[in-house]
Amino acid sequence: MSSPLADWSESPAWLAPIPTSDDREFWVGARNGELRIQRCGACGLHQHYARMLCSHCGADEIAFVVASGLGTIYSFTVIRKNGVPPFRERVPFVVASVQLDEPGARVLAAMPTTAIESVAIGARVRAQFRPVGDEFAFVDFALDSA
Ligand SMILES: [Zn+2]
Repeated sequence: MSSPLADWSESPAWLAPIPTSDDREFWVGARNGELRIQRCGACGLHQHYARMLCSHCGADEIAFVVASGLGTIYSFTVIRKNGVPPFRERVPFVVASVQLDEPGARVLAAMPTTAIESVAIGARVRAQFRPVGDEFAFVDFALDSA
């Protein structure tokens, strides 16, 4: 039996991102329907979340690129209990560690539009963007039907 999916379209103001100079590009990109991650000019690997230095080689030749939004579930968990609204009303839902197709980068994200029973390690997923206010958006993932 499949659990009904909660509506995640509205989030309280306190959940809105407060970007830093390092990660503002990520949040603004998401509002524009793009998954922007960092690529290192020295080693060529990618990273997420945004940082000043490359997490793979330590170089400071970091630049944002637009990722494909495609990836594979590396691992996941099902959140079944949470006492804090709005998550209290959203359970159960999946949080997945997604290995992006761009080498080096993983994203930890919710999968609010995907039934928990259909998620598996190795499944192909695609980024989705959920606006929060006028400037930013959250990045979620869903099973890739393409
Ligand atoms: Zn590097």
